[in-house]
Order: sequence, then structure tokens, then C-alpha cells
Amino acid sequence: MINFQQVSKTYPGGHRALEKVNFHIKQGELAFLTGHSGAGKSTLLKLISLMERPSAGNVFINGVDLNKVNSRQVPYVRRDIGIIFQNHRLLERYSVFDNVALPLIIEGTHHNQISKRVHAALDKVGLIDKIKCHPSMLSGGEQQRVGIARAIVNSPPILLADEPTGNLDPELSMEILRLFEDFNKHGTTVLIATHDLGLVARMKYRSLTLKEGRMLQDPLAEGAL
Ligand code: ADP
Ligand code: ADP
Repeated sequence: MINFQQVSKTYPGGHRALEKVNFHIKQGELAFLTGHSGAGKSTLLKLISLMERPSAGNVFINGVDLNKVNSRQVPYVRRDIGIIFQNHRLLERYSVFDNVALPLIIEGTHHNQISKRVHAALDKVGLIDKIKCHPSMLSGGEQQRVGIARAIVNSPPILLADEPTGNLDPELSMEILRLFEDFNKHGTTVLIATHDLGLVARMKYRSLTLKEGRMLQDPLAEGAL
């Protein structure tokens, strides 16, 4: 489902963020991506979501070589990928409903469908009673859950999260991870970047580790899962 083959990324200015990275995440898997700040986690997620392009190597999503995806085709590939950011990037001027509806509006979904799907997404994260609120009226944990609802509203097969629990206390962090676990049980492939090793240790999932742009040996890399 997500396949990296000899992927390197050098940013303009010469900084090597990723160096010959290889790994494979299967459909229906949930995996963590760990490593210190600056190790290359965000860069790796940006290559999957086509926010950045590799300097060398190939990224395959659902068997599609992203090097062969041109800028016009990017939105179609992105539909398969829900992304959750640490700072959730909600639009303050808009209600919770509008924030969650945004990906569907961009896709051109019919308005009857939009309302139905936004309600379903907010129901999944337990925020249906906040549908008319503005983000500033919500707690940090609630804002993060709105970000999650927005990421899953069009039922993408792949969910990426970049430090989704970075600003949350341990209890709320576990709650968010349970949500990811729940989506995963329903078939979504999930990749969560985090530097919170305590959190990773409490969940029994595969963990990929980046160190200075290199992927450390992954004991479960070949066929073990
Ligand atoms: P992480 O998410 O693990 O903290 P990043 O992928 O954000 O790591 O960054 C990896 C390295 O690449 C860092 O040294 C960072 O400063 C550098 N980097 C990230 N984005 C850019 C960019 N747009 N331009 C130049 N360097 C970048
Ligand atoms: P986040 O934690 O949300 O990824 P960052 O502060 O790491 O936020 O990065 C914010 C933006 O700046 C990102 O788009 C990243 O690619 C870019 N960036 C990160 N490090 C550098 C850098 N050394 N030089 C230029 N841009 C960078």
C-alpha cells in the first residue's frame, strides 16, 4: 500500500532529510514512525501526500509510482490520503461543520451527501454536539478530534498523522490513539509519526525508526506481520 524504494530527499540548500529509505506498509496495517526532531518524519509523510517530491528513488501508493503522477493528477491521489497535523490547522472563521466539510466541498460532493458525511465523521469522533461551534470554543483535544473528522470525512484508505498528540496530555493522547486504532480495525491503513516513545510502547504495533534521515533496521520488515 505504501512502498518506499531507495528514497532520498535533499532540500534546496543541500540539507539531506532522507537517505535511501526502504520500507513497505501493507494494506490494513497500523504503524508508528518514530525518531528525534529533525530525523525526517514530516518529510517522509510529505512524500506520501505529494507535498514534496523525492530527489531520488520511488514512492508507490496503491501500486502507483508517485514519480509518474503529474501536478494535475495530484488531487486525485490525495483523495486516498487523510492527513492529521499536530496543530490541526482548523479555520477559525468557520464552524466545526464547515471545517469538516471542506475536503468534500473541494471534491465537489453533492450537498445532500456533505451533510450526511460530516455528521457521520463527527459522530465517529464524538463531537456531534459541537457541530455549530467555532474552533476557538473547543478544548485542544476537541480541536484535534475535529482535525481527525476532517481527515476521515471522505473515508480515505490511508490515514497519515504528524505528531497528532504533540500538544495533548497523556490521557487525551491515548484517546486519540484509540480513535486511530478504531479506524484501523475498520480497514484503514494508518501511519503515525511521533517522538513520544512512551505512547508507542503502550501500543503493540510495528514501529519504524528514522535516525538522521536513515531508516533503522525494522525487525518486522519482511513478512513478519
Ligand atoms: P521531523 O519531522 O522528524 O522533525 P523533518 O522531516 O521536519 O523532521 O526535517 C528533517 C530535516 O530536514 C530537518 O533537518 C529539517 O530542518 C529539514 N527540512 C525540513 N523541511 C525543510 C525545507 N522545506 N527546507 C529545508 N530543510 C528542511
Ligand atoms: P511541523 O512540525 O508542523 O512540520 P515545522 O516547524 O517542522 O512544522 O515546519 C514548518 C514548515 O517549515 C514545514 O513546511 C517544513 O517543511 C518547513 N521547514 C522545516 N524545517 C525547515 C528548514 N530548515 N528550512 C526551511 N523550511 C523548513
